Amino acid sequence: MREAVEQLLLPAECLLCRTLLPFRDAARLVCDVCRYRWRPVRPPWCPRCGQPEPLFGRCRVCADWPATFILARSAVWLDAGARAAVHALKYGGLPRIAHDLAAAIAALDPPGRAGAWLVPIPLGPRRLRHRGYNQSERLARALGRRWHRPVVELLVRSRDTAAQTTLTPEARLANVAGAFETRNFETRNAEGGTRNRRPDDRSAFRLPTSAFQRPLVLVDDVFTTGSTLAEAARALERAGAGTVSAVTFGRAVVPDFI
Ligand SMILES: [Zn+2]
Ligand SMILES: [Zn+2]
Repeated sequence: MREAVEQLLLPAECLLCRTLLPFRDAARLVCDVCRYRWRPVRPPWCPRCGQPEPLFGRCRVCADWPATFILARSAVWLDAGARAAVHALKYGGLPRIAHDLAAAIAALDPPGRAGAWLVPIPLGPRRLRHRGYNQSERLARALGRRWHRPVVELLVRSRDTAAQTTLTPEARLANVAGAFETRNFETRNAEGGTRNRRPDDRSAFRLPTSAFQRPLVLVDDVFTTGSTLAEAARALERAGAGTVSAVTFGRAVVPDFI
């Protein structure tokens, strides 16, 4: 409903460069030219985390990742145009742009994709109230429509964390340590399915371990140091996950601390 209203009220112009969008693009917020300017992340990269190969020695980005976290890939480098798109998704109150971002992510091909569940990185309750939506969940749903895969919100934030943007890599690690836990689920209902409990319900019921055996694909907007994704993978591993991979729209341009 809100999306329909937005479409009526907003002029059909590209959110990034303000050129008018052709009618057929009315459902999109970013024009072709701006989308083609997004710079895809390409190899050579670390086969596991997708970061450009280090000059010496083994990759430090993914060295401490939990064993089940086998792969992370990002669609585009987070430079000017892509950064503006993420900004619109997170702070511009324009969740519809998730469709444009998901179109770029959809070209990625994590292992086991055909049978995977998509797991969005959850927001803390305070930030969720403030923003009104979880941008990762919007991305995951838009991606799920393209991949024909279900979105399962397996994770919750166990506490609100500080915004990562201004933190050093070490501080980021400490900031997200223990930040996630798996969502509690009802035991099987009459139809043999499961359904979600409220996220704040900490009862003893857990999703059966077998539910975590399918490939799980974490979905987030941006990969910076990977510490948030690794911590989320750790929580899934504790719950019995077999393999976890991750896809993000943006990849922060290699910071000089690595
Ligand atoms: Zn444009
Ligand atoms: Zn790596």
